[in-house]
Amino acid sequence: MSKQPNACAQPDLMPPQEAIEALLAQVNATQDSEMVSLNDAVGRVLSEDLASCIDLPPFDNSSMDGFAFRFEDLNLSTSTELTLIGTSFAGHPFKGTPQANTCIRIMTGAPVPAGYDTVQMQEKTTTNADIISIEAPKAKGANVRYRGEELLAGTNVLKSGIQIRAAEMGVLATIGISQVRVKRKLKVAFFSTGDELRPVGSDLAPGQIYDSNRYSIKGLLTQANVEWVDLGVIEDDKEAIRGAFREAAEQADIVLTSGGVSVGDADYTKQILSEEGEITFWRLAIKPGKPFAFGKLGKAVFCGLPGNPVSSMVTFYKLVWPIINKMQGLTPKAPVIVKATLSTPIRKQPGRAEYQRGVLSRDENGELVVATTGGQGSGMLTSMSLANCFINLAQFQGDVEAGSTVEVEPFNSVLC
Ligand code: AMP
Ligand code: MG
Repeated sequence: MSKQPNACAQPDLMPPQEAIEALLAQVNATQDSEMVSLNDAVGRVLSEDLASCIDLPPFDNSSMDGFAFRFEDLNLSTSTELTLIGTSFAGHPFKGTPQANTCIRIMTGAPVPAGYDTVQMQEKTTTNADIISIEAPKAKGANVRYRGEELLAGTNVLKSGIQIRAAEMGVLATIGISQVRVKRKLKVAFFSTGDELRPVGSDLAPGQIYDSNRYSIKGLLTQANVEWVDLGVIEDDKEAIRGAFREAAEQADIVLTSGGVSVGDADYTKQILSEEGEITFWRLAIKPGKPFAFGKLGKAVFCGLPGNPVSSMVTFYKLVWPIINKMQGLTPKAPVIVKATLSTPIRKQPGRAEYQRGVLSRDENGELVVATTGGQGSGMLTSMSLANCFINLAQFQGDVEAGSTVEVEPFNSVLC
């Protein structure tokens, strides 16, 4: 997105897409990997392409409880009586030899023996001692799942760079993988800065508030599947902040802080960071979340989130999370954006892209509608909790009337 001339635009603010691309250009995917047991693999990033060593399914099997037989033995215009000569149960294949005009009782998942080719479901058969009367199914091969019909041995099943979710856990088990090579987990050290902040569990003196960012960040980092180190609340004191930066940079891939990156008198973060590392301060054309700091601190990547609680979550989601994803070797995925009808009007000044917190639902006709959560102040953290989506409003967009179509980004697994 390029900066467009606009009376309301603030030309020193960087458009969000430009900022994300510039940030991503400065970080690299980890090359380190480790083997982990399949039991510990959920959430990890696969670091090699994986091919199956076996056909899937591994043998012809029945998709129904019923009877297996030769299709050619059936009379297609009426029912056919076949003699029952055995059983094939899941885990207990038929041991005999299929013969003309016979059938076996077969259960779902049990092998269809070579020599039989078709299965009829139990409900379309009648049994009289060992004589089974079978209604012909539509075609030869009905209700049989053939060996290799899903994939053949040697076929690639999973690609390097994907995140192992529940489905991949099952796929890996299906092809018999007990250990899997994954990217090393990233380590993120984080702390809050601010003399007004107190940890939960303590009493508040006048002018003090609870430190909430450390907890929302902890939630976000947990959802992002990284290892984290919580360094607590650091007071607005230059040397305390310097000490915390050094401690964090020594042990982490990413150092994350909240607060102290705006232009207040006690905002020492900038000064100490410029002395300790290579830091760029960004004024982003986004709301909430204008001030954001980024750079290198020793070997670590540094991200300084704004202190306002909603701003810190939104900048994490929009900027830090893509950085984490790239550094942990994940193949990028475009966010899912849907269009919905706005049911509440929105006030907006052109100049910054806004991520208003919204509730996406369906109206009585099944159409997608979205409403804001109400007050959108950058300190109103309950707006994040009430929301299930962002209403994405473009940088140069002004007010939006109720009834307009807007772009909505449903929250994904990181924010849910
Ligand atoms: P700052 O970015 O330090 O200027 O802080 C901006 C606003 O966010 C102020 O109202 C702070 O009190 C508030 N704030 C900063 N850090 C936190 C935090 N960790 N938890 C809750 N609020 C915070
Ligand atoms: Mg502060």
